[in-house]
Amino acid sequence: MNYETIIGLEVHAELSTKTKAFCSCKNEFGGEVNTNCCPICMGYPGALPVLNKKVVEYAVRAGLALNCHISLFSKTDRKNYFYPDLPKAYQISQFDLPLCRDGRIKIEIDGQDKHIGITRIHIEEDAGKLLHGTESEDYSLVDFNRSGVPLIEIVSEPDLRSPLEARLYLEKLKGILEYLEISDCKMQEGSLRCDANISIRPVGQKSFGIKTEIKNMNSMKALQRALEYEEERHRRILSQGGTIIQETRRWDEAKGITVSMRTKEQADDYRNFPEPDLVPIVLDKEWIESIRKDLPELPDDKRKRFVKEFGIPEYDASILTLTKELSNFFEECAKGHKNPKAVSNWVMGEVLRIMKEEDIELKDLNIKPQSLGRLIDLVDEGVLSSTGAKQVFEEMYKTGEEPEVLVDRLGLKQISDEDAIAELVKKVVDENQKTVEDYKRGKTNALGYLVGQCMKASKGKANPQLINKMLRDLLS
Ligand SMILES: [Zn+2]
Repeated sequence: MNYETIIGLEVHAELSTKTKAFCSCKNEFGGEVNTNCCPICMGYPGALPVLNKKVVEYAVRAGLALNCHISLFSKTDRKNYFYPDLPKAYQISQFDLPLCRDGRIKIEIDGQDKHIGITRIHIEEDAGKLLHGTESEDYSLVDFNRSGVPLIEIVSEPDLRSPLEARLYLEKLKGILEYLEISDCKMQEGSLRCDANISIRPVGQKSFGIKTEIKNMNSMKALQRALEYEEERHRRILSQGGTIIQETRRWDEAKGITVSMRTKEQADDYRNFPEPDLVPIVLDKEWIESIRKDLPELPDDKRKRFVKEFGIPEYDASILTLTKELSNFFEECAKGHKNPKAVSNWVMGEVLRIMKEEDIELKDLNIKPQSLGRLIDLVDEGVLSSTGAKQVFEEMYKTGEEPEVLVDRLGLKQISDEDAIAELVKKVVDENQKTVEDYKRGKTNALGYLVGQCMKASKGKANPQLINKMLRDLLS
């Protein structure tokens, strides 16, 4: 039987406000344990929360960028559950009246645009963090620094049809939140977290199949792998005549499998009720419009501008605008450069390759956009071969030195002296008479062999374009 996969994502993003959601404690990652907390975020009886206006502003910014309807009236609710890292035994969240709803995100799949619905965006607070002891220590410690850190939860419609689509959606969403500068979106530090609901159904069936929820995926790759695993598990069970159990499963990165955490019978009942300590959130239209006016250029607009301004292909522009950092790096390098397409090739090729291989971020690359621009100039001017340029680039990354210095130090300066190359070409032609005759009889790929021989004779330092031209002139 042919099955169709249905996926919806719930994404939590920690907002990068200066202070926490309901108190004036500092909102920062990695401080000394239990130093950024107070009676409010530690849940002391009688302590009263006050909503941070910036939290609402950031959430509205996200809502507008994701084409949501912004509610002029919404409220907060208590989501009740007990956990050692949640001192109040409830989390302040929004239940039935979220701040934003009915939005959408555009992704591109197989060259086609596809809109993924956003059901809602609501604000809530984060819990603290448990620090578990080693196996010999039978206790855990609690760090309340994260308690009360503001979050937005972005819930998608079940519009995603494959693990790849889910990944593209999350990448796009992450990019937008980064462009908005409302979250640093570091999945490895937990400031962007994603849970996924997945089910499958026979193609053509209207109703949904039974879903499972997957948690604990802390990278884009993990999200896609976990969903692929789960999709396959559902297919196997159904094709063997079994039934899927509605449950929450955890992704085990090391083993590459999902494992059951709890079934529906043990599902949480949060007994949501309105938060009595906070007034409703009432917004005025002018304030929302002023936030809309201040929205920065978003990835889709930037992509269109790059195509127009730099004449690069749509494909290049979509990769270069995926993150704000990368798009800024490209733009700084391409601005005023004679060859923006070459800049694009370098950024998409070598820059992304090193970042991936070394597992580093762009800011740790140690190469200024202007320096990369000059490296590309050296190739365009024939001073450096493209192979030599890659060597210089590698060295720029390791030493932080400028390209001109490295070309000299590594002795990679290309021979572009016409006399020297003419001599080289003549020698190779004399030594390869049979290939020369093949070429003259119309075997055009013989020329490539001769160019190769010239390059070899020059130890890779001769300018291949010049060799090519001279060989053609000599043999025509
Ligand atoms: Zn506090």
